[in-house]
Amino acid sequence: MSGAYEAVIGLEIHVQLSTRTKMFCGCELSFGDEPNVHTCPVCLGHPGTLPTLNEQAIHYALMIAAALGCEVPPLNEFARKNYFYPDLPKGYQISQFDKPIAVGGSFADVGITRAHLEEDAAKLTHVGASGRIHGSGHSLVDFNRGGTPLVEIVTEPDIRSAAQAREWAQLLRATIRQLGVSDVNMEEGSLRADGNISLRPEGSEELGVKTELKNMNSFRFLERGIEAELERQREILESGEAVVQQTLHFHPEDGSLTPLRSKEYAHDYRYFPEPDLVPVAPTEAMLAAAREAMPELPLARRDRYIEQVGIPAEAAATLAFQAEYAEFFERALEAGDGASAKAIANWVTGELVAALRDAGDVDPGDSKATPEAVAALAGMVESKAISHGSGKRVLSKLVADGGDPAAIVEAEGLGQISDSGELEKIVDAAIEAEPEAAEQVRQGNQKAIGRIMGFVMKETQGRADGGAVQKLIRGRLGAG
Ligand code: ADP
Ligand code: ZN
Ligand code: MG
Repeated sequence: MSGAYEAVIGLEIHVQLSTRTKMFCGCELSFGDEPNVHTCPVCLGHPGTLPTLNEQAIHYALMIAAALGCEVPPLNEFARKNYFYPDLPKGYQISQFDKPIAVGGSFADVGITRAHLEEDAAKLTHVGASGRIHGSGHSLVDFNRGGTPLVEIVTEPDIRSAAQAREWAQLLRATIRQLGVSDVNMEEGSLRADGNISLRPEGSEELGVKTELKNMNSFRFLERGIEAELERQREILESGEAVVQQTLHFHPEDGSLTPLRSKEYAHDYRYFPEPDLVPVAPTEAMLAAAREAMPELPLARRDRYIEQVGIPAEAAATLAFQAEYAEFFERALEAGDGASAKAIANWVTGELVAALRDAGDVDPGDSKATPEAVAALAGMVESKAISHGSGKRVLSKLVADGGDPAAIVEAEGLGQISDSGELEKIVDAAIEAEPEAAEQVRQGNQKAIGRIMGFVMKETQGRADGGAVQKLIRGRLGAG
């Protein structure tokens, strides 16, 4: 079989809510604390204990529902999802099944099937043969995480490429972060994404057999994992074979995919309504409170950046869709320092994004280059106190060591050459050094000016204002 295939992708996103306490007991949430210190008989599943519903978790779920344009049915209900595993002391997880808190939304062109509340399982650490505990093959259980409130968001299979999946998940993350209902940290597992992936012949309406990719803990891995799985399925289909429905684990080290376990079907879990909790009927007041608690969300923020702050569309989206950069930008904007919003946006989305990526994916919030410093730097370049090239050097200094841009310019002697006599001398030397180019410029070849410019920039180590140099060269060569 040959011909083109279309990728069909649906995502399931687990969001750990940052409520003060767990979903069904009064234990505090924690990350990184000593194991098994945030536990009680309820979250340890002792017989005879009863769950108490966390109102803040309901409020947060209703905020997520509103942000995703979901409907909130009059009644939602908890259900027991039964399975036997050491991370689940009760032998079941309290989740929602056929009556979730939110249904039928749409977010950035992707349909939302549902969003439901559930409790997280405990955290297992597998200790291999080299482990110090009894030599080999053991698992350690940390119940601190057990009972943490989760919202699981399930999309329709509306996504058509790995890149779209990554971009969409990033926008969702920025939105949830903005809501302030979760830390959305993929490495720490407070945001977890599973991908459901299939191919179908271009033009077909039917869904192909899907596989599920589990728990990719960064957006880059999400994209690469889906990419690798689409490739694997394409090869299977092109050789005339059939894709087997299964769950796969992506190994970012070598890009390989290994089966996790044969697919469990819904009825394996023997779902039934949780008898210890009454169904929840969100009131008009609860819905209104959720709507009122909503801050400006990334999509609205992008539009405001474009329409009111005057930032080009692409930079506006880069900022607004990555909450960390939006926060950085807003703080830089506040610091101002004479730089225009557009100049600050350009520095943040261009040089800063690249520099932080090169420094090993540093979060702008943790960057040594502060928003105030970047604003000041943008201002210095914009006012031509330093050249763009020098600005780049100052930025890499800031990212590496922090500090104050004006002091760096001073210490490194990066200040723009403002003495016009000095600049004229260098331009004359450049014209002398590049006689061919000079002749071409005299005859009207504007492109040849670049060679002379290059000489000046090299000579001044980028400390000359490009515009001023061009003007000087043109003047000297009578080229307008
Ligand atoms: P399951 O029963 O395996 O949990 P669901 O129908 O509940 O499957 O869907 C789970 C997720 O998989 C959803 O995000 C859905 O959009 C997606 N999905 C379902 N079928 C396909 C398919 N054929 N290809 C890609 N994604 C799919
Ligand atoms: Zn507890
Ligand atoms: Mg399902």
